[in-house]
Amino acid sequence: MSSEDFIWPIPRSAYIHVPFCRHRCGYCNFSVIADRDDLVERFLKAIDRELAPLGRPSIDTLFIGGGTPTHLSVDALSRLLTMLAERFELCDDFEFSVEANPEDIQADKLSVLADHGVNRISLGVQSFQTDKLELLQRGHNGDRAREAIEASAKRIGNVSVDLIFAAPGEAVSDWETDLRTALDLPLQHLSTYALTFEKGTPFWNARLHGRMKGLDEATEVKMYQITRQMLAERGMKHYEVSNFALDGFRSRHNIAYWEGRGWYAAGPGAARFVDGSRDLNHRSTTTYLHRIEQGESAVAESDRLTRIGYARERAAFGIRMIDGIDLTRVSQETGVDLWTECEKAILDAVDRGLMIRTDTRIRLSKKGILFADMVAADLLFP
Ligand code: SF4
Repeated sequence: MSSEDFIWPIPRSAYIHVPFCRHRCGYCNFSVIADRDDLVERFLKAIDRELAPLGRPSIDTLFIGGGTPTHLSVDALSRLLTMLAERFELCDDFEFSVEANPEDIQADKLSVLADHGVNRISLGVQSFQTDKLELLQRGHNGDRAREAIEASAKRIGNVSVDLIFAAPGEAVSDWETDLRTALDLPLQHLSTYALTFEKGTPFWNARLHGRMKGLDEATEVKMYQITRQMLAERGMKHYEVSNFALDGFRSRHNIAYWEGRGWYAAGPGAARFVDGSRDLNHRSTTTYLHRIEQGESAVAESDRLTRIGYARERAAFGIRMIDGIDLTRVSQETGVDLWTECEKAILDAVDRGLMIRTDTRIRLSKKGILFADMVAADLLFP
């Protein structure tokens, strides 16, 4: 395939970033603005203005994330959802996800979501244990989280829950309790993340000055292995390094990311991949608003991919899927022979027992899943 024959994927997904939160949790490094609800009106206008030039594309998946989308008032949330329905044409059988925090889940908000076609809710539960939730500076307790899951299951149907493990001082048995609690609730999808100390966050600072201590690596690995085992026993299939789902409930939106399918995006800090260009909007909400209001681009960084770079990205993101990636198919789709392009990375990973190779596919071994980031980086960079 010559570069003239190659066509960048036409996006079938869109991401909208709502930056508002009640307060900023100490570990969070997302593009978030706390205690500035006075900016909501300007934000709604800016999103509409940013999306207008797209010309109402047809999409399969729409994801509203944050921040906390459900921090918006019922009225603002309703107007955002109405506007998005005007800016995108959702195909039949669409997946429409909204992130939510348990403390915002009330009957009227769930009704607004359901009435506007939201059919998947992703709840930032993180834990069901009061001590851990307080340490993570979350605004809900375990009872509230349970109620939110049950109410969401009744009104929306398809519920995903995020949980954090390896919080300071957490014992393996504490984590097992969180998993057991989650598994007894009506949810279809679980995302589990080890707590990370991101540079610039209060948690990072606290660890740097000895006021907070992360768990040792061996305990973290044990927690991860227990997660895989407990969820498998309950029919939750491990389908991506951090994600588990019942059959038929994998996140189609996230799979579009991992398969490099292209997606639109709007909002502060939102990243899009359209026509071979990876663009990242300015992370500051006020700068984002100012730029859009002045008729300027909100993009802060832009990276034009080469075809080889794109093919390598497909390998690097695809390897995070537990079933691995059909390297032969991606080679055909991109016109880049990934078997040759990534030969050294593949041979090294297979030699070290981190990767399993078949005729057409590569996938992480059980050991390799623990080193997914490293294997992905080797596939990405020659
Ligand atoms: S609620 Fe979520 S997005 Fe908001 S500050 Fe906390 S971790 Fe960050």
